[in-house]
Amino acid sequence: MRFADRVALVTGGGRGIGAATALRFAREGAAVVVSDVDEGPAEEVASQIRQEGGRALAVACDVRDRGQVEAMVQRAVDTFGRLDFLVTCAGIIRDNLIHKMTDDDWDGVIDTHLKGTFLCAQAAQRVMVPQRYGKMVFLSSTSALGNRGQTNYSAAKAGIQGMARTLAIELGPFNINVNAVAPGFIETRMTRAVAERTGVDFEELKKAAAERTPLRRVGQPEDVAGVIAFLCSEDAGYVSGQVIYVRGGP
Ligand code: NAP
Repeated sequence: MRFADRVALVTGGGRGIGAATALRFAREGAAVVVSDVDEGPAEEVASQIRQEGGRALAVACDVRDRGQVEAMVQRAVDTFGRLDFLVTCAGIIRDNLIHKMTDDDWDGVIDTHLKGTFLCAQAAQRVMVPQRYGKMVFLSSTSALGNRGQTNYSAAKAGIQGMARTLAIELGPFNINVNAVAPGFIETRMTRAVAERTGVDFEELKKAAAERTPLRRVGQPEDVAGVIAFLCSEDAGYVSGQVIYVRGGP
């Protein structure tokens, strides 16, 4: 129960890595604001937390929209009294080779990942700075290092690494740690959608990804949630501005 008395806000918390992170925080004692673009999946995760005896609130929020993001943070504070952890998992992919990538593919991905992370961090620091306490963890990706068909996504995920380093410098004096995690292939709806779109059987896609991975398996949402929990714990109290790759190898 290392997070008793802490309040966490997880965007994209209704599914995949965000849902696993919300559950992990709750099981270690935190009150959790589970946020997602649709209330349905967020409420499912929040109900599971409450059924397990935890405290959770589901909030629908499109992270691309400043007004919705600011209202979400305000609801977190109104409901639980403070905000200690921000984890930004909201995300989409719109893959295309450069010659086929449309403005919509570009704008959708950049707005969701890059602008969404900026808006959430800006709203959260308004609460964390006066508290003189906070932990932010942003979701980057191995795609930040380059990945075919992902000009938009790789640019956003590399940008998020720069944002984490910059905010670690700006917010460090207020006792706020800012880090990024960069997962490789994690088994979620997002990677399942890649299989569907490319017409590859999901089991085959996973098998190929596992063979490329030194630990010889694909990642699970819980693998990422564990590292996020570590970065929000006092064990990582002197870690800031770092990118931790969670991809079963170097
Ligand atoms: P996921 O299962 O698809 O979950 C992402 C969630 O974000 C979904 O519930 C999605 O809603 C929501 N979302 C999309 N647009 C949003 C918006 N504008 N505002 C608020 N929420 C929004 O994906 P995941 O695999 O858990 O990914 C979580 C994060 O990890 C993402 O940032 C992703 O880029 C990153 N990541 C994933 C992997 C991987 O292999 N899975 C690897 C590296 C990094 P809808 O389902 O309705 O769209």
